[in-house]
Order: sequence, then structure tokens, then C-alpha cells
Amino acid sequence: MICVPIVAKSVEEALKEMKNSVKVADIIELRLDFIKNINENGLKKLLKNRELPIIVTNRGKKKGGEFKGSEKKRLALLKKAIELKADFVDIELNCKEKDEILKNKGKTKIILSWHDFEKTDRKKVNEIFNKMKKTGADIIKIVTTAKNLNDNLVAFDLIKNAKKENKKIITMCMGEYGEISRILCPIFGSFLTFGSSKIGKESAPGQIPAEILKNVYRINELKGKNPKIFGLAGNPVKESKGFLIHNAAFKKSGMNNVYVNFLTDDVGRFINGFKKIVSGLSITMPHKQEIMKNIDKIDARAKKIGAVNTVVKKNNKLFGFNTDCDGAIEAIEAKTKIAGKKVVLLGAGGVARAIAFGINEKKGKLIILNRTIKKAEKLAKEIGCEFGNLDKINEIKPEILINCTSIGMFPDINRSPVNKKLLKKMVVFDTIYNPENTKLLKAAAKNGCKTISGVEMFINQARQQFKLWTGKEINTEIMRKAL
Ligand code: NAP
Repeated sequence: MICVPIVAKSVEEALKEMKNSVKVADIIELRLDFIKNINENGLKKLLKNRELPIIVTNRGKKKGGEFKGSEKKRLALLKKAIELKADFVDIELNCKEKDEILKNKGKTKIILSWHDFEKTDRKKVNEIFNKMKKTGADIIKIVTTAKNLNDNLVAFDLIKNAKKENKKIITMCMGEYGEISRILCPIFGSFLTFGSSKIGKESAPGQIPAEILKNVYRINELKGKNPKIFGLAGNPVKESKGFLIHNAAFKKSGMNNVYVNFLTDDVGRFINGFKKIVSGLSITMPHKQEIMKNIDKIDARAKKIGAVNTVVKKNNKLFGFNTDCDGAIEAIEAKTKIAGKKVVLLGAGGVARAIAFGINEKKGKLIILNRTIKKAEKLAKEIGCEFGNLDKINEIKPEILINCTSIGMFPDINRSPVNKKLLKKMVVFDTIYNPENTKLLKAAAKNGCKTISGVEMFINQARQQFKLWTGKEINTEIMRKAL
């Protein structure tokens, strides 16, 4: 179930938010502690007007909440909620009146909760679970803070444990490294996940909007269906749009697959922990080279390029591919032939490297220009082409210009790597896809140049990834629309 927390400052605002949540929520959590001067009358009004099952929570300051009154007042409101037949009431494990509340819970179901706002400690989590399972609570809630991606594995194992013991559990990890748990835990069997009513209305760090959980990640549809897990491993991953296009493609193809963002700093450790869980991966900065040490077999082309951006799992073995190169070359060749043309490539990072190999294979006359000239020289020597620093663009008149630097990428959208006066009689390809129409492309189009957006490369390489993972073709219009 998707639970939308209502974090309103007044009863009226809470009523409005409860109404707005009906479209995306299966259940709501009423955070009494956020409502200023909440009293029994306000609580009564809120419970009377609910359209969905409700969890009543009233957290004190020490437990990460906002309630300013005494402990007695805090608990009195929760007891009142039970009297008013709230569907669920949340109390903390160390609440002094826990036993009494559990004894007098009537028809209300009690969620017994425990939070760690600093870390995830596997031993402590197991200890807490063993303690909680003996209390007679209807649902156990254990929430920790992920300090790295592998902390999520503790929550996944806890779900397995609870299943074995026939206990209902709510678990997830807070923080940006824990975001995946908010998608995968409910799919694996957590009783619910929290999703904000909209961006800015999160009640805990890392919360994802409920609408995205429902319509993009399809967590309700996929629950219990043992979906295959795919995702993007890298850092940063926040601005990537891959989750939109791959989840849309899986949905359209009727596949029970889900694609999430794996924020990871240590790709070796990530593979160690998640190899069993994932069926395929996209790899992004800064791991496209490091990943090669952690997989079983690398495709000859990816080996030649020296970077892997796609991983496929088959018979428990990991295979590495590169779809960046073909994705870019396909995008260029849809507009112009490469053979014999003078091609200037700006940048010498991972993407530049993949495209440089492709241009060379297609017999383009390549020149690599980069801010750090040493990197341009190194790549140019491997390819066997000319190189220089970025200023050299003023002396060369390319027939095809390719930007592989991040100049112009969101949020730096008012910059261009090349003076607009130079953009004449050439094809200009900007690998940046956010924004779709960069300052460089706008100026080139204005000067009458043919332009190619990074979106074309992004879609092409994603289509190839989809084929490698599923063995099936996908109509790229679905991906384009989702983007
Ligand atoms: P990378 O390995 O980090 O390389 C970044 C490149 O940009 C380097 O050549 C770097 O030069 C240069 N650069 C960065 N900031 C600069 C600045 N202020 N001035 C001059 N040069 C600067 O990154 P990457 O993975 O190759 O990604 C590069 C671009 O590809 C990004 O813009 C990204 O949006 C795009 N991309 C597109 C797709 C797609 O499917 N369309 C996929 C992935 C990436 P130095 O060597 O001097 O640091």
C-alpha cells in the first residue's frame, strides 16, 4: 500500500490534504504532531471526514516529531484516536504505556515503531525485531537511516525474516541512499511505503512522491509478482531520467520489471551486495570503467572502448556492454554520413571516449579538444587522431561538431562550449539531454546548422539496453513520451 503522510499545520489544511491524497494513496498517516494546538475536537473532525483508512501518529521531539506538549497529552490523543476507532495507531517501542495501549486497543490495529535517525545497524535491527515480535503488536515498524546503498539489504532481509515468522512489517531506510527501499520494500512485502502528496511535503528524508510510486514504479501492481529488478548505478543519479523511460517501456510491454536509481560510491561493494537481486544495470559516472573489474565477461566492443554502461545478468553471471557508442553514432547517422567528414569532439571523458571510437570506426577525420589537454592527448593517442585544447575550435572548421563536455547541462543551462559565430555550415550534436535543447543547439539552429539533441542518443542507447535485458524490441515513442 502507498501511505501519504499528512503533515499539515492546521485541521483545515489537513482535511484539504486528506481529500487531495485520495487519488494516489491507499492509506494516510495523520501526523497530529504537525498540527498546531491539536485537541480532541480536531482529531474527531479529522477521523470523521476520512475517506481512506488512517494511521494516527503523534511523535514527540525526541523521536523526530513536532509535538510540543507533555508526554501525557501526547498519549491522551493517541488513546482518544483508539476510542474514536482509528484504523491504526502508531506507538513507539519504548512508550511507557505501550502494554496498556496494546491491551485496550479495541478494533484499532497497533503499529509498534522504532527508528534510528543516524544509521543502520544489522545486529541492533535484529535485536529490536526479536523484542517487538513478542509484544502482540499488529504491525512492526522498523525504520533506519542508510549511510550507503548496502544498508538497504538489512531492510530486505528483515522482510524475509518477518515473513518466516508470519509477522506484518513496515520497513525502509531513510536518506538518499535509502530511496530504493521505499520502492523495493513494499514490492518485497513491506506492509506499506510512505509517499509524499507532492514534492516539498515529505515527512522524512528520501520520501518519493506517491504519484511516482504508483504510476511510474507501479509498486501496487508489482507487489507479490517477484519482479525483475533493474537500475542505474552511479553517483549522482538524481537528475537521470532513465527510470522514467525504462519503467514506461516495461509497463507497455506488460513486463513485471522495475527500474530504480542505485546511488552508489563503491560499485564493487554494490555488485557484491546486489548481484543476487538485480537482473540488469545501466552504469553511469563515475563507474563506467571501475565496473569492468567486477563483472564476469566484457563484450569485445566494450573492451575496445574501455567502458561499460550496460550490465546483463544471465545464469548468475554478469556481462558488460557499451550502448553509448552505437546510440550516439545512430543519432548522428540519422542526420548525416560520418565517413570522410572532419569531426571535432569536445571533451575527453567517458562519453567522449565511446563516441570517439565510433567516429573512428566510421572513418570520420577526428580531432579531440578538451580543457585538460593531457586527457585529450591520451585518448587521441589510443585512437590515432589529432588533439588540442578547447580554444583550438576557433581555428578549425568542423563539418560535424560534438559536445561531450557538461557545459550547458542543467543547472548550467546558460552556457555554451562554443561561440555562436563559429556555428556555421555544420552538423551540431550536443550529447547533453537535460535540457533537450541546449544553448549550443539553439544557437546552431538559428545559424542554419542541422542539430541533434542528446535525447536521441539517450533514447537509442536505452532501446539497446532494453533489448539486451529482455531480448525484445521496444517502440521508442513510448520512451520519448515518458521522457
Ligand atoms: P565525464 O567523464 O565526467 O567527462 C566530462 C567532460 O566534460 C570532460 O572532458 C571535462 O573536461 C569536461 N568538462 C566538465 N566541466 C567543464 C568545464 N567547466 N569546462 C570545460 N570542460 C568541462 O562525463 P561523461 O560521462 O563523459 O559525460 C559528458 C556529457 O555527456 C555530459 O554532459 C552528459 O550530459 C552527457 N551524457 C549524455 C548521455 C546521453 O545518452 N545523451 C549519456 C551520458 C552522458 P576535463 O577532462 O578537463 O575535466
